[in-house]
Amino acid sequence: MADQQNGDHPPIMHGHGKAKFCLNCGDELVEREIDGSMRLACESCGYVHYTDPKVAVGVLIGDEQGRVLLMQRAHHPRKDLWSYPSGYVDAGEKVEDAAIRETQEEVGVTVELDGLLGLHSETGNRVILVVYRGHIVEGEPRAGPESLAVDYFPADALPDLAFDRDHGIIHDWHREFAVDATPR
Ligand SMILES: [Zn+2]
Repeated sequence: MADQQNGDHPPIMHGHGKAKFCLNCGDELVEREIDGSMRLACESCGYVHYTDPKVAVGVLIGDEQGRVLLMQRAHHPRKDLWSYPSGYVDAGEKVEDAAIRETQEEVGVTVELDGLLGLHSETGNRVILVVYRGHIVEGEPRAGPESLAVDYFPADALPDLAFDRDHGIIHDWHREFAVDATPR
């Protein structure tokens, strides 16, 4: 699922291809303005094709030094860039369960969630991102099929991140929640 994460780039999967034919009567759909937005609509029966948002989850996990656990993406889009464990919520799946599942898939650990960190959306982007804080209850972080590497990073020395929004999310988390046990 990790390679299907999309933020501000053109999405590549999940039915983003434009619908061509009416789901109601099979006639061709045409683009027209409806309530101020361009939508695909059927001129024969009046069907309007609405695009639903997609819900993604991410989990921020810190170590005792206040560093954040990141994974290097093994697949396009944004291969080789880094992000925290994240992915799409399946239809019918509890959002918290998706967060735990994606973390297991991407960095190989079982987490307990410690609460909602924030909810992120932006104009023109179909994805709504829900970010949780979590801590590891089982396993050691390791690379898996979806990650080239996993490691902890201090907030002031992050690697190249896959998504611009993550800078703000990680810094907010660090400022508010990361426990820094290291004497300075
Ligand atoms: Zn129709």
